[in-house]
Amino acid sequence: MLLTEAKFSGYLPFSGGLLIFAGRGKDVPSYVVYNPTSSGYDIIEAKPIVYSKLTTELWANKRNLLPGSAEAYQEVTYLASRLRLGWPKDQLDLSVISKYPKVFGMRTIRDKNSLHQLLCVDNQMSDLMFTKYFGELEHSDNAEEVEDYKGMKIFFPSQMRDSRKKDFHRVFEDLKGMYNKHGLGKVITGNVKFSSISGNVLGLYYTASKEVRVDPAGKDLMRLYYTLIHEFAHKYYYEFIPGKIPSIEAKFRELGGIAKVKSKGFISTAYEHKLGINDVLTYAGKNKSYLKFGKNWKISSTAKGIELSSVQMPQVKLTASSIDAFLNSGFEAEEMKVSVVRPSFAHDFSHKQKFMTSDWFPTSYSMTNPSEWFAEMLTMYMIGSLEGDVKKYVESLI
Ligand SMILES: [Zn+2]
Repeated sequence: MLLTEAKFSGYLPFSGGLLIFAGRGKDVPSYVVYNPTSSGYDIIEAKPIVYSKLTTELWANKRNLLPGSAEAYQEVTYLASRLRLGWPKDQLDLSVISKYPKVFGMRTIRDKNSLHQLLCVDNQMSDLMFTKYFGELEHSDNAEEVEDYKGMKIFFPSQMRDSRKKDFHRVFEDLKGMYNKHGLGKVITGNVKFSSISGNVLGLYYTASKEVRVDPAGKDLMRLYYTLIHEFAHKYYYEFIPGKIPSIEAKFRELGGIAKVKSKGFISTAYEHKLGINDVLTYAGKNKSYLKFGKNWKISSTAKGIELSSVQMPQVKLTASSIDAFLNSGFEAEEMKVSVVRPSFAHDFSHKQKFMTSDWFPTSYSMTNPSEWFAEMLTMYMIGSLEGDVKKYVESLI
């Protein structure tokens, strides 16, 4: 997985502090961090999803003229709109916050290191962004223990049990061994931080801070191992062979990794010609992919990566010649479901099913973008699962 600071898609500084919008299109900031006072950083927290659910409900009730709901709707949306505009704390009706604890919360964080814990460790803000807005950390507390290990700087949470640490050490050791074996030991370097990661994801590579993140709660160490091979493949891609990226991107496009379909638009005819049975077509705009099997099509969601949240599947009977029509109706379909046709990386390896492939897109996730394509190919190559031309191609890049 790759994080281009997408989870926190918006940081909006205002004179009184920083608004943090988690995810796109949120109409209330998840966190408003006020400039520090002598007691620390005051933070107002909102849960955008609960907020939108609640306001929808309240709005519906209001329309039905249920008693009390109009007032609640007003209170909640007024506060949200003021938070969004970065109003000074003392001009907000803070009693609303305690009145709707499921939506809003308020707390004071005493120092910068604890703020870092909240934003970077618990919420995936990168250190780079943190430093940009809040300045360097005071290295006074010991929330993390830094360890030089096999060329990496590993930031272990200080409360982590020794036995657990040992587990991770083993994984890092294997990781280093795997990269060494392929003459890429130099890639295993840089910062590795532990932080909880949302979704079914064990690792992340941050393109901005060049950090690797590991979820400390990950139980499946085998999967973590494969995940880390993948994350460091991103590192290799961005930090060691940046000059080769344009040609990798071109190759990816040439192979039709992502068919560029504009909003409610059309697949290029060039791509259409290439479609065959069992081909997966990824629609770049809305993170769905379309699989042709026999005369039928399946729609898959690739929104969050590998094997995802699922939606129902319509058995849409269409032939290649009517893809355009299908895509147009498909966008609107509510019931869709995930069907990962190519091997799903995490799934496969956690079940220890070794397989060989000469597929240019060895996993469904590899079709996401050129960087994921490269990371998946390199990982498959390292564990000895690639053969044929795709194997030769990877060899040409290392
Ligand atoms: Zn990735």
